[in-house]
Amino acid sequence: MKMIRRLLALTLLILAPAAGMSAGQNPAPAQPEVKPVYEVYAISYGVLPDFPVSQLVAGADKSRKMDIQMMFWLLKGPGGRNILVDCGFHREKFFKDWKVKDYIKPSDALKKLGLKPSDITDVIITHMHWDHADGLDLFPTAKVWIQKDEYDYYINDPDTPGKNRSGVDPEDVAVVAATKNHHKQLKIVDGDNKELIRGVVFYTGGRHTYASQYVGVNTKAGTVVVASDNLYLYENLDKHAPIAATFDAASNLKAQERMKQIASNPRFIVPGHDPDVFVRFPKPGNGIAKIE
Ligand SMILES: [Zn+2]
Repeated sequence: MKMIRRLLALTLLILAPAAGMSAGQNPAPAQPEVKPVYEVYAISYGVLPDFPVSQLVAGADKSRKMDIQMMFWLLKGPGGRNILVDCGFHREKFFKDWKVKDYIKPSDALKKLGLKPSDITDVIITHMHWDHADGLDLFPTAKVWIQKDEYDYYINDPDTPGKNRSGVDPEDVAVVAATKNHHKQLKIVDGDNKELIRGVVFYTGGRHTYASQYVGVNTKAGTVVVASDNLYLYENLDKHAPIAATFDAASNLKAQERMKQIASNPRFIVPGHDPDVFVRFPKPGNGIAKIE
């Protein structure tokens, strides 16, 4: 017993200086990376009444109509980072072509969350359609994130004949083109699965436009997928039906399947035009839905 105690004491003596040395020489063990945690909000800016469902869900009954939700999304991060995913529309001309109910200018809708345009640090353009990109000039100080292929197709080289530019407005193209010259605010996203903003991953797939994108966002409750029009309605997911407007229906279905892998919970996949978003996530209300 004595022997064991003596051995133990000796061992401690030998180990003690070694431990002291190693504490001084070795770097601290790497801390696991702490990702910024975002709050995700869907923000209503109007409703388009009587929209044909067959233009949203491939193969849907042509007589079905529904009031579709116009919305954009806010990713509210730490340190005053306020990222918009899309930015709605505001130009007068669109009100001539479309009857819009309950319209509120996107910059005014953000006041409900206590935000003014200069508080918006970034705008992620998921795709160049007018109802997602037209509001960009309401947020003139924000960085603008767009896929390289989307930028090249619609903005860099818009006049090549044979391009499908339906739903893309020349004035919106000009606004995005001008960001190149202002405050170095244009941020090109080149490809898929890019975490260019910590906690926010850019994904391609779905091909709603030439190179539409969507994002996966780190929140307290897990990863939320803001799908935008790569998934028009919950019905697309439920029926395993591609969106009706896509350059590539097979790619769209693949993207939908992938969204299920990315999202921590299937209810965290947020479609682009489904009024049910504000039913499933009723808080805080008044046209704002916190995805949680
Ligand atoms: Zn669209």
